[in-house]
Amino acid sequence: MRTVVVIGTRPEAIKMAPVIKQLKSLSSRKLQTFVVSTGQHQDMMRPILEFFQINPDFDLGVMPKCGSINSLFSTVVKEMDGLLARIEPDIVLVHGDTTSAAASALAAFHQKTRIGHVEAGLRTGRLDAPFPEEANRRIIGQLADLHFAPTQTAQSQLIAEGVPRSRIVVTGNTVVDALQFVLARLRNEPLLRKRLDERFNFLAPHQHIILVTGHRRENLGNGIDRICDALARLAQSANCAIVYPVHLNPRVQKPVLKRLAGMPRVYLVPPLDYVEFVYLMLRSTVILTDSGGVQEEAPSLGKPVLVMRDVTERPEAVASGLARLVGTEPEKIVGAVQEIIREGNVCSGSPVRNPFGDGRAAERIVGAILGTWQSPSWERRTGDGESIAESADKLFDHALVNTLHSAERERRVAH
Ligand code: UDP
Repeated sequence: MRTVVVIGTRPEAIKMAPVIKQLKSLSSRKLQTFVVSTGQHQDMMRPILEFFQINPDFDLGVMPKCGSINSLFSTVVKEMDGLLARIEPDIVLVHGDTTSAAASALAAFHQKTRIGHVEAGLRTGRLDAPFPEEANRRIIGQLADLHFAPTQTAQSQLIAEGVPRSRIVVTGNTVVDALQFVLARLRNEPLLRKRLDERFNFLAPHQHIILVTGHRRENLGNGIDRICDALARLAQSANCAIVYPVHLNPRVQKPVLKRLAGMPRVYLVPPLDYVEFVYLMLRSTVILTDSGGVQEEAPSLGKPVLVMRDVTERPEAVASGLARLVGTEPEKIVGAVQEIIREGNVCSGSPVRNPFGDGRAAERIVGAILGTWQSPSWERRTGDGESIAESADKLFDHALVNTLHSAERERRVAH
């Protein structure tokens, strides 16, 4: 089986890393995996790939040629079309909601290649928010053969849209797998921990760290200005330190630097390596974000997160008590941060059970793919009536053992 895994942006690299590692660990002549980087966020993805020790097999390098979403979309379709014709994969795995993912899914669909959608079924219910991500994930949802839903809520959403239950498997979110990998390294590598302590030694132990990410397209312009107003007010408190890794988009950099650069207790830093960002999340009192992934990571680490958006596709975070939607009104942001600083976690500490998973999502995804591949429905391609969820449960061990055996046999022959 030939699998193509597409990544293009920082969150895709983080969340696909566990799936890529799992697939690559099973590599054999029978099971080949090709990692394709589109280059949508080349610079921000590079350190993530280094950290997870992933070398893309193909790099489309699309970004330098592109400006608008349409130009990016069409370039990815064209480049993927040529690449898929060369590789002839059995399945293309895309993640989430990026332009790279939607365009790659469309290219695969046109070549009648199966599509697996990781992190399927997230919806805000508003086509324009987040933009263009909500549209991208709905498009992929129409094209995919296998839907890997991170939660029951995402599964229900897909079923409500008419996706056959048999094609959905609830896996948990791979971000939990990625986080566990980072946490294990932080635990087991004192030198890494020491390096991070030194890197952030400008943060005093008594200070409440407010970690910020803000760069969503809907917030560009007024939204970013209002967020900066809120941060400027929070920085007046002597017991606070604000750390804001500023996105490379000039439409974020310019207003943020203009408004906040040089302000006491505000630390504007370049985008951080993933391990640095996780380290800071662990040290934070509260996280302010308009990101998607951070809404999953913060509750997974037991940290309160204030979401600077009007809608979320992660209702599980809000239900866990650790996330709250605050929009971008400075009053609301400042009030919510002060409440958390005053009263501690607005919720009752770490959630008993992480709503986003148990760290075994990648295993389930690969298990379901292998199981479906080895089942009769793969040839017929209908999938109807035969549940991939069952495949994942019943066939994972069998499929894994078979695959491991053949990989092992090949290795022995090679030696
Ligand atoms: N992140 C990171 N370094 C940073 C800021 C964020 O590694 O300086 C990680 C963060 O932990 C999360 C991901 O990047 O996993 C979120 O990326 P982004 O906000 O670009 O995308 P979204 O999650 O909104 O799709």
